[in-house]
Amino acid sequence: MSSDPRYTRPSVDSAAQLYVGGERLEAVSGERTTTLDPSTGEPIAEVAVGGPSDVAAAVAAARRAQPGWAGREAGERVAVLNEAARILRERAVEIGQLEALDAGKPVDQAIEQVEATASVFEYWARVSLEIRETLAPTGPRALNYTLREPLGVIAVITPWNYPMLEYAESIPGALAVGNAVVLKPAALTPLTALSLAEVLSEAGLPPGVLNVVQGAGSVAGQALIEHPDVEMVVFTGSTGVGRQIAATAGQGLKRTWLELGGKSANVVFADADLDAVVSASLFSFTVNQGQLCTAGTRLLVERSIHDELCERLRAAAEELVVGDPFAPGTQLGALISAAQLASVEAYVEGARREGATAITGGDRPAIGAPCEQGSFYAPTIFTGVGPETTLAREEVFGPVLAVIPFEDEAEALALANDTEYGLNGALWTADLTRAHRLARGVEAGTVYVNTINGGASAPHDRYKGSGMGIAGGREQLEAMTRLKSVLVNLGGPTPSL
Ligand code: NAP
Ligand code: MG
Repeated sequence: MSSDPRYTRPSVDSAAQLYVGGERLEAVSGERTTTLDPSTGEPIAEVAVGGPSDVAAAVAAARRAQPGWAGREAGERVAVLNEAARILRERAVEIGQLEALDAGKPVDQAIEQVEATASVFEYWARVSLEIRETLAPTGPRALNYTLREPLGVIAVITPWNYPMLEYAESIPGALAVGNAVVLKPAALTPLTALSLAEVLSEAGLPPGVLNVVQGAGSVAGQALIEHPDVEMVVFTGSTGVGRQIAATAGQGLKRTWLELGGKSANVVFADADLDAVVSASLFSFTVNQGQLCTAGTRLLVERSIHDELCERLRAAAEELVVGDPFAPGTQLGALISAAQLASVEAYVEGARREGATAITGGDRPAIGAPCEQGSFYAPTIFTGVGPETTLAREEVFGPVLAVIPFEDEAEALALANDTEYGLNGALWTADLTRAHRLARGVEAGTVYVNTINGGASAPHDRYKGSGMGIAGGREQLEAMTRLKSVLVNLGGPTPSL
C-alpha cells in the first residue's frame, strides 16, 4: 500500500447533474442512472439522464449567452481559457482521480491527461489569435474585406476513452472564437464533464456559454443534433454513429466535424531501430487499455525480422503491469465496461477461429482485491493474421495487436492501405528517402516516421471511414466560424471585378 493520497479511490458524494445556464440541475424527467467503476464493478454515483427537454433548455441558454460572449475582445476570451488551464493544473490530482475512477484507467495516467488538457487549452488560446481575415484586391473605388464570425451554438458529442482530452479537442477552440457549446459526454464517463464546467466558470466563462447535458446518445445526443438552433455538430466516436450523425446533420444543413475510428498500420522495415520499435509499438496498442482510435493495431513487419520482433514484443508485453488503477506502478487498468470486455473476448475468439495464434495474452488476468470483478484484459499479440480476417479489419478497442508480415515496399503499402479507415499510420526505417516516398502513399491523415502516437499538432484531415473536417491548427478553428464578405463603395460608380 502507498501512503500517497493519489492512490486512494476518491469518494463521490454528490450526484452528477446537468449543467445548464450556469446551474447544476436534475433532468426535467427526474430520471437518474448509476455510473460504475469499471475496475471493481461497484457503483460510483447517481447521474441525471437528460432528454429532449433538457437539450432544448441547454440550447436556449447557449443561444442567449453566445452574443455577449462573442462581443468580448478576443484577448478576454483567451484570458479565460488560460486561466482555466491554470485551474486544471491546480486541480489535476483531484480531477484525474475522478477520471480514473469513472474510466478504469491508471490514476497516474489520468492525472497526466488532465495536465495535458491544460496544455491543449493553452494551445487553442494561442491558435485562436492566428485566425485570418483577408482584404480582397479591388480597384481604387472599393474596399472588400472578410469578417470571421462565430457560428453560434455548437454541439459537442464525445466518447468515453479520454473524456477530458476529448472535451479539450474542440471546446476551448469553439469558445475562443466566440461560440457557445452544448456538450453531451459519453454516458459511461459522466463525472469530469461537470469538473470542466466548474473550472471554466471559475475562470470567468459566463453562465450559458458552456452547458452539459448528460444522457444517452440515442436520446439526448439525437435531440441535440436535430435541434434547429445548433449550427454545427462536433462528434468523436465510432464510424457507424458518425455516419448517422452526418446524415441527420446534413438534413439540417449543419456543419459536421467527425473524428471516427481507426485501424492504423504500423509498418516496420528490417533496417529500423528495433529497440525504438518495440517500446513505441507496445505503447501504441496497449496505452489506455488499447482503447484509442489512433492505436497502431496492425503491425506490418518485413518478413526477415518478423520472428525476432514478435519475440521481443511478446517479452516486453509480458512485463506490463495490469492491475488496480489506484495502485502505484499499474500500467494497464480496466476496460471501460463488462460489455467492452465481452466484445474484446469475442474478437479474440474470432481471431483464433480464423487461424491466428495468440503468442501472448488472449485471456483475462486475475487481479486481486478490490478488483476481482473488474473488466481487465491481458495485452494480446496475434501472429498468423490473414489480411482478410476480422482481426485485421475491425477496430477491437482493447489491447490486441495483429501482426502481418510483408515482403517488400509495394506489399507494405498495399497492406497499409487495405482498410476502410485512414486516421494515422507509422513507418519505421533508416532509409529516409523510402520514408518520404511512402509517407505520400499512405492513405492516413497523420503519418509518423520512426515514431508513433507522438504529439502531432499540425492540421490534418482523415481518409475514408475515419472522419471529416480538418483537425488541429487555425484551420480547425476557422471551420467553427462563418466567413462574411463586406464590400464598401468608396465613391463613384458601382465597383466591378
Ligand atoms: P460511440 O458509440 O460512437 O459513441 C460516441 C458518443 O456518441 C457517445 O457520447 C454516445 O452516447 C453518442 N451517440 C451514440 N449514438 C448517438 C446518436 N444516434 N446520436 C448522437 N449521439 C450518439 O463511440 P464509443 O463506443 O463511445 O467510442 C469508441 C469509438 O470512438 C471507437 O470507434 C473509436 O475509434 C472512436 N474514437 C475516435 C477518436 C478519434 O479521435 N478519431 C477518439 C476516441 C474514440 P452514449 O454515451 O449513449 O454511448
Ligand atoms: Mg464509469
